[in-house]
Amino acid sequence: MNETHTSPATRRKVGFVSLGCPKALVDSERIITQLRSDGYELSGSYEDADVVVVNTCGFIDSARAESLEAIGEAIDANGRVIVTGCMGVKADDILQAHPKVLSVTGPQQYEQVVGAVHQHAPLVRQHDPFIDLVPSAGVKLTPRHYSYLKISEGCNHHCTFCIIPSMRGKLASRPAGDVLGEAERLVASGTKELLVISQDTSAYGADLKYRTDFWGGRPVKTRITELCQALGTLGAWVRLHYVYPYPHVDELMPLMADGLVLPYLDIPLQHGSPRVLKLMRRPAHAEKALDRIRRWRDTCPDLTLRSTFIVGFPGETDADFQELMEFIEEARLDRVGCFRYSPVDGARANDLPDPVPDAVAREREAIFMARQAEISAERLQAKIGTVQEVLVDEVGELGMIGRSHADAPEIDGKVWINGADHANPGDLLRVRITGADAHDLLGEAVDADEA
Ligand code: SF4
Repeated sequence: MNETHTSPATRRKVGFVSLGCPKALVDSERIITQLRSDGYELSGSYEDADVVVVNTCGFIDSARAESLEAIGEAIDANGRVIVTGCMGVKADDILQAHPKVLSVTGPQQYEQVVGAVHQHAPLVRQHDPFIDLVPSAGVKLTPRHYSYLKISEGCNHHCTFCIIPSMRGKLASRPAGDVLGEAERLVASGTKELLVISQDTSAYGADLKYRTDFWGGRPVKTRITELCQALGTLGAWVRLHYVYPYPHVDELMPLMADGLVLPYLDIPLQHGSPRVLKLMRRPAHAEKALDRIRRWRDTCPDLTLRSTFIVGFPGETDADFQELMEFIEEARLDRVGCFRYSPVDGARANDLPDPVPDAVAREREAIFMARQAEISAERLQAKIGTVQEVLVDEVGELGMIGRSHADAPEIDGKVWINGADHANPGDLLRVRITGADAHDLLGEAVDADEA
């Protein structure tokens, strides 16, 4: 497709490809919402679009390769491509691989992306806000019943394996009233679960000195505990992602025990050896994570913990790996992801001495995952016989599938539900758990008053 390919109709259509993590998805939602309110339509195919926006991920090599491939595909199918997102900070790499790309911008540069769309596919009639309605909650790329809620951008840490701060900048929190206003609109338009995301959820508000904001005329501090208290009044599930074990996270446990926030923490621990954590320069590495987890479970026994770990980090010795194994044995986490260390272009960890040979890292990964899979399976088995509240995600030919408080969408397990004929996505059911495998649960719907 060449410069003359624009729709003869009065409307301009934009194709959109969104790659990467939930944070990038929220960026895509924001760009699309702006484009829709400017009067653009979304196109379901490359061929039908006047221009295609590719929101890229540049976190690790495989994500960068996937981004370059997606750009190439869009150029072959359409020819008019605008690139944005994390990989946009490396404009030269993109333009070298794909010189026909029309414009490249980095993450969060919403105005620039929208400006590039206006430049390369100008609107041919004035947008009429009375005709071109945009949903009050904005345009969402997730199913209607759950939504990501981004509370801040960027990060003040300097983990040696990570280049996110150089891509997304320093911590910039949204004032509490702003976040709560968005959450309220999402719930009013059908959201049953709010997934709170950021790079560092526990640090929320630190950059604003936890200043007091206003929501519905009431004062609310821009701080994670106060934000959670207010979110908990909206009547939707509230799930917290990317929480570091800072001391004030203890304050969230009573809110979880009381049902204001789901008893679930996604807490990227990355290692169990203090020496490796120091090499990684992880936030809160000095905190005794195991003591903290024990205390959390004392206050909130139902707490589900998800985490991620890196094995084969430069300098990781056999003793460090042993310490990591002892850590997961003690911590008995519910859901765990494990990554073999891979150098990220521009990360300081690349300069650390004593790289771990790939064969050793692979072996450690296999040992780690085998043991953790047993622990996760035991944790699931222990749920057999309990009754869980389950949010229905899908009703289809394969049956009914939902998630309990212990399962975040996309990354955790599912609950396969029997015995509920008339439920719809977004409904909450009570389900007696009758079986479990390594990832998922099986259960029977029970009457609301049945324990
Ligand atoms: S906390 Fe560390 S890993 Fe997370 S975004 Fe910040 S620098 Fe990267």
